[in-house]
Amino acid sequence: MAKPVIAIVGRPNVGKSTIFNRIVGERVSIVEDIPGVTRDRIYSSGEWLNYQFNLIDTGGIDIGDEPFLAQIRQQAEIAIDEADVIIFLTNGREGVTAADEEVAKILYRSKKPVVLAVNKVDNPEMRASIYDFYALGFGEPFPISGSHGLGLGDLLDAVAEHFKNIVTEEYDDETIKFSLIGRPNVGKSSLVNALLGEDRVIVSNIAGTTRDAVDTSYRYEGQDFVIIDTAGMRKKGKVYESTEKYSVLRALKAIDRSDVVLVVIDGEEGIIEQDKKIAGYAHEAGRAVVIVVNKWDAVEKDEKTMKDFETNIREHFLFLDYAPIVFLSAKTTRRIHTLLPKIILASENHSLRVETSVLNDVIMDAVAMNPTPTDKGKRLKIYYATQVAVKPPAFAIFVNEPELMHFSYERFLQNRIRDAFGFEGTPIKIFARARK
Ligand code: GDP
Ligand code: GDP
Repeated sequence: MAKPVIAIVGRPNVGKSTIFNRIVGERVSIVEDIPGVTRDRIYSSGEWLNYQFNLIDTGGIDIGDEPFLAQIRQQAEIAIDEADVIIFLTNGREGVTAADEEVAKILYRSKKPVVLAVNKVDNPEMRASIYDFYALGFGEPFPISGSHGLGLGDLLDAVAEHFKNIVTEEYDDETIKFSLIGRPNVGKSSLVNALLGEDRVIVSNIAGTTRDAVDTSYRYEGQDFVIIDTAGMRKKGKVYESTEKYSVLRALKAIDRSDVVLVVIDGEEGIIEQDKKIAGYAHEAGRAVVIVVNKWDAVEKDEKTMKDFETNIREHFLFLDYAPIVFLSAKTTRRIHTLLPKIILASENHSLRVETSVLNDVIMDAVAMNPTPTDKGKRLKIYYATQVAVKPPAFAIFVNEPELMHFSYERFLQNRIRDAFGFEGTPIKIFARARK
């Protein structure tokens, strides 16, 4: 189920990033060696009551050297294009400004629901200041205070009211959803075309039926596939499309909707920092990953080249040690047939359930081989383990005291589980839980 997307728009300094951080909370990456995209803080998941959603801080997307008004106009357009519900943020201490009216004009023209919030209303006496904001034409303004965390519940209630009317696409569970990510010109579009070559039947290029209208569904040898956000690779000619932050945002959205993420690398050019950041997000989001080295036709090769390239990738993507690597050429279609089997394998492992008894045998063997750690004379005791989720596979390990589970020991158990069950292509998660 795709989560609804909320975007915060408003002129600079009204408190967008403060509110963003309030809503998504602190999210600490558990894997330290990932250069986390999470720290960029333009896109993150949040929760309110029973609702899960993703949140965009459009203020975090700076659009080159554009003048002030052009910047906020484009940020409003991004919100309209990318979000299901928009929070229009204003500043109660400054009243309605010309820039607010500018944003309002753009939001008016869209059909997306807008909830108006007046920030910096830090105390009840200031509530009277919100009435001016009715003039913006978005109905009742919600007074909030980002610094004090006031009013956010009512605001999110109003936002969540709109979730009911959102049409989210639902592909059936058997359908493998994958996306291609990578910087411009690595060959993503070419790869899609190569995959959709003559013998693949395109079921639909769902136009206008879903909110994004950008996915390509097809069937191959009895298996249904959806390439997420295929059209996102083709530019519509908007100014902001060429900014790095925007393409990161698109990639993050696509990753969230995918089961399997293809991290596409240009074999001629090698790996750059942005490749790592986005791949890090795919890992943190718990998606299956296949690394694709494209343009292999253009690389001068001898018998060591592939091995060397592979070593290089493994060094750069330490956290993706489970991801298979495929070398191919979208242009000549050489080795292209090696890709789908890896996508299918990664997807199968992503939703694999293992038998509890076998799992416990593996854990107990692991403990026998490498005794559990101790802290201040107290030893970690493992009682039993069970798989609690798929996509990605997650395991609860019931123990005497969860704090005694050290990162390194958790890593060791993870490796034992991998050795026993494979799980090529997918991250797996382990949680230590106190046995009641
Ligand atoms: P952005 O540019 O819209 O992302 O705004 P920021 O979140 O960076 O906030 C701009 C300034 O307003 C910062 O100095 C914040 O500390 C301050 N600020 C944010 N929310 C509130 C609030 O509720 N009350 C007050 N008094 N200041 C706030
Ligand atoms: P995208 O921006 O990632 O979608 O990249 P494109 O698919 O538009 O490809 C960018 C450029 O790389 C184009 O000029 C393609 O012809 C070229 N290209 C794509 N795949 C290959 C390949 O396998 N080998 C070579 N030599 N060039 C390729």
